[in-house]
Amino acid sequence: MMEHNSELGTRGAAGVTMHSLSKAFEVDEGTETVFEEININIEPGSFVSLVGRSGSGKSTLLNILSGILEPTTGRVSYTVDDPEIGHVFQSPRLLPWESCVKNIEYVHENNPEYTDDIAKKYLDMVGLSDHYNKYPNGLSGGQRQRVGIARAFSIDPEVLLMDEPFSNLDEITAEELREELVELWSNFDKTIIFVTHNITEAIQLSDRILMIGGGEIYGDIEIPIERPRTVDNDEFIEFQREAIQKFRSVE
Ligand code: ADP
Ligand code: MG
Repeated sequence: MMEHNSELGTRGAAGVTMHSLSKAFEVDEGTETVFEEININIEPGSFVSLVGRSGSGKSTLLNILSGILEPTTGRVSYTVDDPEIGHVFQSPRLLPWESCVKNIEYVHENNPEYTDDIAKKYLDMVGLSDHYNKYPNGLSGGQRQRVGIARAFSIDPEVLLMDEPFSNLDEITAEELREELVELWSNFDKTIIFVTHNITEAIQLSDRILMIGGGEIYGDIEIPIERPRTVDNDEFIEFQREAIQKFRSVE
């Protein structure tokens, strides 16, 4: 990874508050409540993981935070007006007929100051300096996800939402990207909300874990382990054991 470039990422971080958030979907069988009355405050600049089983509402909650979905009741507020929100998905959602640079350019359609240098700087930041003009098909899965991360950072978001971004990658690549993400987060002042069903990944990455299940946030755990974190030391393993117990306590 490249050193932090002070021209990049100057907008800073925003805090997020969820006020009595509830979400229900109307389905053929009636109303399906995903969660009710979520009240959570997230500090600016923190790295928070949201963990839960498949179907527990993690993506629904992220989509409400980004404004893709409306909550059924409640609201979300940010510590800045009209924040930029980056969203990284499980699949990087690249346009296959466009190069890496053009895949970044298209999220800057409304930015008159955009030049390709911006895309290139963010591609440099994720180690893709030699791949500016490659097409997604010519990249590995890890490289494609790096383009997705570069694209999200390139809008200089105050909040970055990441929805299981590493779960489609092989473990060695995922591990590299985790380390790189923590480095990016510590170089830039960004709030990250990271969805995963992998407790170990959540403990490695974040300051705090929120556990979602049974229609509520049933766990809210601070992670006091010093960084850089290694998964094989006693403190980590003990913390992991307790977190997994808590995680399993809700169906
Ligand atoms: P997760 O990301 O934790 O796996 P989701 O947030 O995708 O879970 O989904 C939570 C629940 O909401 C699931 O039961 C899912 O079927 C339901 N759900 C999600 N989106 C819709 C939708 N558009 N219409 C109906 N039900 C939905
Ligand atoms: Mg999901």
